[in-house]
Amino acid sequence: GAAPTGHGKLQWRILIGFVGGLVAGLLAYTFARDAAWIETIVTYVTNPIGQIFLRLLFMLVIPLLFSALVVGIAEMGEVKSLGKVGLRTLLYTVVVSSIAVAISITLVNLIKPGEGIDPAAAAELLAEGAEGASSIVRASAESQAGVNQVIAIVPSNVIAAMSSNDILAVMFFALFFGIGLLLVQTRRTETLKDAIEGVFEVAMKLIGFVIQLAPIAIFCFMFNLTAQFGWDLLFKLAAFVGVVLLALGIQMFGVFPAILKFVARKSPVAFFSETREASVMAFSTASSNATLPTALRVADAELGLPRRIARFVLTIGATANQNGTAMFEGVTVLFLAQFFGVDLSLMDQAFVMLICILAGIGTAGVPGGSLPVIALILAGVGVDPAGIGLILGVDRFLDMCRTTLNVVGDLVAAQTISALSPDLPEVEAPSA
Ligand code: ASP
Repeated sequence: GAAPTGHGKLQWRILIGFVGGLVAGLLAYTFARDAAWIETIVTYVTNPIGQIFLRLLFMLVIPLLFSALVVGIAEMGEVKSLGKVGLRTLLYTVVVSSIAVAISITLVNLIKPGEGIDPAAAAELLAEGAEGASSIVRASAESQAGVNQVIAIVPSNVIAAMSSNDILAVMFFALFFGIGLLLVQTRRTETLKDAIEGVFEVAMKLIGFVIQLAPIAIFCFMFNLTAQFGWDLLFKLAAFVGVVLLALGIQMFGVFPAILKFVARKSPVAFFSETREASVMAFSTASSNATLPTALRVADAELGLPRRIARFVLTIGATANQNGTAMFEGVTVLFLAQFFGVDLSLMDQAFVMLICILAGIGTAGVPGGSLPVIALILAGVGVDPAGIGLILGVDRFLDMCRTTLNVVGDLVAAQTISALSPDLPEVEAPSA
């Protein structure tokens, strides 16, 4: 039981922060563009506050992720139930991500946003983005592609995996550890399980404090965005931004409601209203991992889902089920291919589709997590990865949108898998 009273108000404060930052930033951009004091504000005030907020959240992600996953697995009671939920989660992710990527690839082929862009504007954007893009390209060249990435999911050193925020590797260890805990049921492991559950409770409590800062942080994020870029960039890349938003919109308001209504048998309207708090957090932070605690709370307190299923699906999903990210990566890669006049055959496009489905699983749930992955895919299909520079300026805004879809998608998954798992009734909740 979290305190329900504070939360309704928090949403409003976040909204006020959002609109306030947006308006203040646009005013600054309109009346004092390129003024030195705006840069000073961004560098010394709004950017540090935003960064500290995100770092506080990330600080708590590893303990939260580890404890939620271990306890979620241990509460399955037996390996057979774990296998069932695990398999259903995997199937769900693959099927729904495939639908998502198919939608986005179809849209890019129909609308062809890469062909509409004015070359002069493009050159300007490329020059602006070049520096940021080259660091991304370098970072992704360092993280080796292909089979090595699969091998790296199995950590050789748990502490190293945790200290480098290697979320997939930490998840692997937590799964493995949880299975061990499930198999050894003694008095001592009961105590251990209780202690890990205690870690979870403390982490949730602390995150509750941090989240109170969200309205100030979102003010800062919006101010940074609009004071520096205004809306110009959005207009220059209107066709691209439009296709991304259209694709995300179809998944959010077409595919998700259909899944909810026909598979999970839950009213989409009720669902969207009950999950509002998680959407707002996802939109503000542009990070699925940072939104995980809010999503867990929403699943428990608002949707009333069985805890062990929700914990398992949401903690895994925050990294591995990212519909919005998969869609965005698909649109971006094809957009840049069109832009540079690289002709992708049907086979190439099928390859992009497959990679994007996998990338939805492998992309880190942090702001801008998509960018290194996109650089990798671009290199793979023979498009200059520096093209990322073109979209860098609008990335933050699109990141907020796709992350919202990622998080809502995880909650849809939790709702659906709970509905499909009546054979796994709720275990007795431990003294809450
Ligand atoms: N920011 C996204 C997330 O956390 C990942 C991405 O960049 O697409 O879900």
